[in-house]
Amino acid sequence: MEMLKKRILEEGHALNDQVLLVDSFLNHQVDPVLMQAVGEEFARRFADAGITRVATIESSGIAPAVMTALTMRVPLVIMKKSVSSILKDGILQTEVFSFTKNASYQLTLKSKFVRPGDKVLLIDDFLANGCALLGLIDIVKKSGATLEGAGIVIEKGFQSGGQTIRDMGIHLESLAIIDSIADGKLTFRE
Ligand code: 5GP
Repeated sequence: MEMLKKRILEEGHALNDQVLLVDSFLNHQVDPVLMQAVGEEFARRFADAGITRVATIESSGIAPAVMTALTMRVPLVIMKKSVSSILKDGILQTEVFSFTKNASYQLTLKSKFVRPGDKVLLIDDFLANGCALLGLIDIVKKSGATLEGAGIVIEKGFQSGGQTIRDMGIHLESLAIIDSIADGKLTFRE
């Protein structure tokens, strides 16, 4: 997706050879026009999958996911990273290790929002080692719904997540794949 790659090149900032900051349009400040285009692109790529639910993890997945759900005219389900006292009955959980926080959390879903018979599309901002996406996949499996695929805004192709997910036979669509971040210079996969 050229519009996205252009923004990554113009505004992305390599924190080191592993981590990319795109907080001017995706992770802190959000460009809604770009997110709308991202949502429309995911909706186009999964148009034939009969999606009934889009699901993501709070918080950086929400902007691209809500635009995808809006375009597809289906509900968005936001999986939680913490359990509050009002969220304790009828929940599904799995443990996820966070790449950026270097800590684990309990990914949590109120089971009534994803049901057996649902066809789920997962959306997230980044794919690195795949822990977040594997957690989402595990919860969808526990819910009894069908996973139709996953859409990622930025995949870091030099980390193992993309390979792991594709090897599982899951339909994975990444709008930009970065093959390396070397000395602050980004290389995209064609
Ligand atoms: P994974 O679980 O695949 O290792 O990492 C994915 C999650 O970590 C994403 O949901 C994202 O929030 C965060 N993440 C991983 N790598 C990066 C990165 O390079 N930049 C930013 N901003 N977030 C990242």
